[in-house]
Amino acid sequence: MSAYRIGRVLLVLVLALSGCAVRWETPRDPGPAPRGSGGDVATPALRDVERFWSAAYPGLSGGQPFAPVSGGYHPYTRRDLPPPCGDERPAYQPNAFYCPAGDFIAWDAETLVPQLEEGFGPLLVGVVMAHEYGHAVQSRLKLTEQPTVVLEQQADCFAGAWTADVLAGRSTAFTGVTPAQLDNTVAGLLLLRDEPGTSARNPQAHGNAFDRIRALQDGVEKGAGLCAGYRAGNVPVTEVPFSTAEEAATGGDLPYAEAIDALSRDAQAYWGRAYPRLTGQPWQPLRIEPFRAGSPPECPAPDASAGGSAFYCPGADFIAFDTARLAPALYGRIGDNAVGMLLGDLFARAAQARRGAGTQDRKGQLAVDCLAGSWTSDLLTREAGTGIRLSPGDLDEAVAALLAFGRAGEGSGTSAFDRIGAYRDGVLQGLDGCMG
Ligand SMILES: [Zn+2]
Repeated sequence: MSAYRIGRVLLVLVLALSGCAVRWETPRDPGPAPRGSGGDVATPALRDVERFWSAAYPGLSGGQPFAPVSGGYHPYTRRDLPPPCGDERPAYQPNAFYCPAGDFIAWDAETLVPQLEEGFGPLLVGVVMAHEYGHAVQSRLKLTEQPTVVLEQQADCFAGAWTADVLAGRSTAFTGVTPAQLDNTVAGLLLLRDEPGTSARNPQAHGNAFDRIRALQDGVEKGAGLCAGYRAGNVPVTEVPFSTAEEAATGGDLPYAEAIDALSRDAQAYWGRAYPRLTGQPWQPLRIEPFRAGSPPECPAPDASAGGSAFYCPGADFIAFDTARLAPALYGRIGDNAVGMLLGDLFARAAQARRGAGTQDRKGQLAVDCLAGSWTSDLLTREAGTGIRLSPGDLDEAVAALLAFGRAGEGSGTSAFDRIGAYRDGVLQGLDGCMG
């Protein structure tokens, strides 16, 4: 049985990521905030998931028709518990789950589903239901003899395949989904991730947000057939446990000033190695100008990364960021590698501009994000003792940062959904993945 849980730590993330709480630049129009419908979103979503599988399942089962869950749908509350699942006595949990013994899907209609809908919009409820239904599909396709983390990512991938169907306009439950709603849904997946430091071998492991979003996007982009082929040997799992007790105690976060200093020096050194590979030219050290609120250094045409609070100045070739605003907005709310993501983006922006490539349009923005990911790849793959290294949770912090400053509606026409995908290409494939 698999379950979604809201932990104490994760609730902090909800607060950090819902609505425009993380916006730390002069607010752009955030669009209407998602609101609870007050009605049941889960049941129509499940019916729509069944519609999807009726069409898609025969392609995976050698032509066998799809059989919907025989045990039905079971919304439950504290006072009205779900039916027993096998030998397990019913108990209230703020979860959604598929019960293989009873072939039914149940969800907490009192807390979990209303919170997800209120905080992130109804499509996240649909994705959660499609994930649970994915476990029912695994039972039917006899795919369940795999490590939990693979099964969970496969269920996320199946949910992505359904999401693609929604985006293609075939859904009866969700219509006219916007890039901003998709970004909200991805922000919700951050809430449902494992706590940093969870081992991928943990029997409860669902995956960190970085891996779960990859699985969802695999399903969106490549369809259910790819998901059905997920096995332990072909799914990249980046979730790792903390390596020392000290790392576990600090959550792997460096103090703010130290983080800025260490990340800046590391990015400079990385581009000293990477830029010649990219262009055949040497890298000239990049000037960094931290400033205090409201007094940025003069730049005639800044190339904004996070509003005007952090930018690359192409005319004078330097990067600048508002150090007083970064601390609470990114470091305090998300973690040290949220600052790393922003610095990585600024350095990548400089590299892209210096080689004469665009940074402002969609293609340019995605190239910048891929190049930022190539630095993360270097951090992840280097030998121990050769500079700073990423700790558990850091990849999720990068994703959270992209969701904080890279949402749909920016000038470049990209969404956080697209930008996370481009960033991940750089992380998983390194610089080569950005040179195509
Ligand atoms: Zn699951």
